[in-house]
Amino acid sequence: MRILVRNAIVVTMNGNDEVLERGALVTEGNRIAFVGPAERAPAGPFDRTVEGERLIALPGMINAHCHSAANLVRGMMASKPLEIWRAYYRASLRGMGDDDFYASALLGGMEMLKNGATTVLDHFFGNQAGRFMGAGAAVQAMRDLGLRHVVALTLSDKNYEDTIPLDPSTSAGVSDEIRRISASEVKAANTWLEECEAFIEAFHAPEKLTTACPGPSAVQRCTDELLIGSADLARARQLPLHIHLAETKAQAILGRQVYGASLLSHLDSIGVLGANVSLAHSIWIEDEDINLLAARGGTPVHNPASNLRIGSGLAKIREFLRAGVNVALGTDGSASNDGQNMFEAVRLTALIHNQAGTDFRHWVKPLQALEMATRNGARALALDAGVLAPGKLADVVLLRRDVAAFTPLNDVVSQLVFCENGSSVDTVIVNGDFVVEHGRLLKIDEDEVLRLARRARMRLDPSIQSEMAAAAAMEPSLSEMYFRVFGK
Ligand SMILES: [Zn+2]
Repeated sequence: MRILVRNAIVVTMNGNDEVLERGALVTEGNRIAFVGPAERAPAGPFDRTVEGERLIALPGMINAHCHSAANLVRGMMASKPLEIWRAYYRASLRGMGDDDFYASALLGGMEMLKNGATTVLDHFFGNQAGRFMGAGAAVQAMRDLGLRHVVALTLSDKNYEDTIPLDPSTSAGVSDEIRRISASEVKAANTWLEECEAFIEAFHAPEKLTTACPGPSAVQRCTDELLIGSADLARARQLPLHIHLAETKAQAILGRQVYGASLLSHLDSIGVLGANVSLAHSIWIEDEDINLLAARGGTPVHNPASNLRIGSGLAKIREFLRAGVNVALGTDGSASNDGQNMFEAVRLTALIHNQAGTDFRHWVKPLQALEMATRNGARALALDAGVLAPGKLADVVLLRRDVAAFTPLNDVVSQLVFCENGSSVDTVIVNGDFVVEHGRLLKIDEDEVLRLARRARMRLDPSIQSEMAAAAAMEPSLSEMYFRVFGK
């Protein structure tokens, strides 16, 4: 298909951060063929011409960290620190089957597309009942929506009790629950690696919008054998590798205890850290870790809503930017965010780092926040996207500008960041194909998505109730750990 968008404001997000006041954009097949002033647009014929007088064109945003299985429990979790929250969240996943993973991924993917994201990194974790933990159902959902997706299969081969600094004496009362979790989730490193390779074989297909890659859960949740094996697998196939890093202080403390080094420097010492590695959160890192990230080219992925919701801490985004580190943005899962709206992530990023007493000259600028959501995310995932320029993948979002958010139009980038909430998204093009028009999905019925999600949640209710009640037994020891870590 050949598409022309003309007379729109084109926010290119290219290296010069060019904004074209009356721009044109042409796509051919799945690539962008032209971006420039409208009067210089190539001649037709075109399969579709979009009149852009009332539109703003932006590269499709890249949600660089989420968990697609979490969408059915949005709004349900108490605001509690990660280790407590996670016990309940993991419990909520245990009864899920393929239909539930499909419905959950469909719901989150719909929300992303309708709010201007065209690519997602799904750090997929389901449960051990199904093949690939259920990741195949999530891939199918995102293909059905027309959402580009990088699915990083979560791998973890350590017993739960060895992944957090629990006090052995106080954890005695919950050991049954801990043993149950470990028994149901732990496999040997080589079994995980074989499974991950089979997953990549089965699903990796960029022409179908799917990148499949390894996603070791977190440094402290994996043996070195599994981390190194994952890195080798990613490198051999030129794939990204995604991992959680230092989301909480408890994790950082455990890293020091186990490795005698920061979690990141341990990852580097075993040869895993590289430009293909993206690291969700990266909050409780040490000063030298910032230089290490800059030197190796790894990308921290900032998830501001989730960090606030479960009180994980404030990532050192100002310091990352000053050191030239590539920072990407994500929503994280809906169990710790409650939604999948990238405009919210962008706005929070441009707000929460403006802290009294810090050097205001290094506060996150609106353009920097938007870069994180577009071209930085593409770089992290090695996707030829995130910029409106010839040769790039044709992933484009068109927003209405005849709305309050852009009236009067003072500064389009600043208003995209501070005024827009996703509601102005009119048209979304992914891989050269229309997937949203007039704010509605084209490839799948929105009411059907909602119906499937409601039905899955109802079916899961008995399991969610009983598993979460069992998880409650662990809360006292996890609370004790939290207060001990923070010296309270
Ligand atoms: Zn996460």
